[in-house]
Amino acid sequence: MSYPEPNVANLLKCPYCGNDSEFFEITDDVITTTHYIQNRDGSFTISEKSSQALGDVKLFCASCEEDLSTLHQRFSEMIF
Ligand SMILES: [Zn+2]
Repeated sequence: MSYPEPNVANLLKCPYCGNDSEFFEITDDVITTTHYIQNRDGSFTISEKSSQALGDVKLFCASCEEDLSTLHQRFSEMIF
């Protein structure tokens, strides 16, 4: 498999400090649903986990901690 070379101009970058490698996301009011399968010995194994955000999702720079929520749409399109 080969991927095209990433275009550096497309990197999401913090406009405040220039950080382009670490970001974090904070989500309000999340409902997490976890499906379990019970094994024959009575233990449980997670089969599926999903979460749904009911509140705001905010994006922050992990370096200077500025609110980058205006870039969140683009950020979420680039999560693979
Ligand atoms: Zn920053």
